[in-house]
Amino acid sequence: MDLSNKRMSFEFYPPKSFEGLNQLIDIAHRLSALSPAFFSVTFGAGGSTRQRTIETVTALKQKLGMPIAPHLACVGFDRHELMTLIEQYIAMGVNRLVALRGDLPSGMVSSGDFELASDLVKFIRVVTGNYFHIEVAAYPESHPQAATMQTDILNLKRKYEMGSNSAITQYFFNQDAYFYFMDECAKQQINMPIYPGIMPIMQYERLKRFSTVCGAEVPRWLAKRLESYGDDAEAVREFGLEFVGRLCERLLAGGAPGLHFYTLNESQACLGIFEHLAGSGGVVQLVTEEAVEVA
Ligand code: FAD
Repeated sequence: MDLSNKRMSFEFYPPKSFEGLNQLIDIAHRLSALSPAFFSVTFGAGGSTRQRTIETVTALKQKLGMPIAPHLACVGFDRHELMTLIEQYIAMGVNRLVALRGDLPSGMVSSGDFELASDLVKFIRVVTGNYFHIEVAAYPESHPQAATMQTDILNLKRKYEMGSNSAITQYFFNQDAYFYFMDECAKQQINMPIYPGIMPIMQYERLKRFSTVCGAEVPRWLAKRLESYGDDAEAVREFGLEFVGRLCERLLAGGAPGLHFYTLNESQACLGIFEHLAGSGGVVQLVTEEAVEVA
């Protein structure tokens, strides 16, 4: 499959130790061989990883010389604190941001100056003009707090209208969720690229936990299949690689403009998925033929 016109990106979380950071730099080196457009680094809402996010962005930028997109979650921060962070990034030569609301850790009460990610996007545009490429979050299966699918799409539209350039989705395992979501976004004239967020399947228990928290559905058949491997971690990874590889293949063949990988600070699964994609001519052709038949 020809990936040359598809935008690929990889997301990391900031490691807790110096050793972890060095390991992450090795991982990023391996993934840089796949020519990603950028690496992104998450940010603990309420500022729990504030310093570590900055250190990770700095280290990746210095060691790899690649574009880095720090995540910035506005919940719990006032505009001066956000401005300080934004100015630090500008001084470092960072010109991409992933702008989010975030979820306050339990026990924290202050909601800060901004309630929603769209407020943050507006603020960044007001204070920095068009300097940043701003990514925002999108939810093909709907955000857990969204009253309806429609209000969630209108929320994305607000982020677009406030000046975001593109969006990255929450992960999902059902390709139809993405394609129906794209149709709804087109109806609302949300004219920015929306990149599927891809979660490699590496460990079932961890996946189950994450999915419950973020509202991503693990289809029943997939859950049953992964459960059936029990403690056989190798079998989970092998099946996960095949399944997620095929999901990526179908998303790209169906017109997704690229992919964003939630790496969980590992390179192996992403490298495996790319290997799968590189050798996936047959299935891509099958999808195309089906599309031609339907047309
Ligand atoms: P928003 O776009 O502001 O929306 C949040 C929800 O509120 C939506 O359901 C929306 O429909 C609803 N809503 C909007 N307006 C209203 C209204 N007026 N009344 C009621 N409801 C409304 N979290 C982190 O803490 N750190 C990260 O680094 C991080 N990275 C992420 C990266 C990606 C690609 C994604 C998809 C998520 C990430 N998250 C991160 C998680 C994200 O912060 C949470 O999903 C959070 O709950 C919502 O953030 P948001 O930016 O989507 O918020």
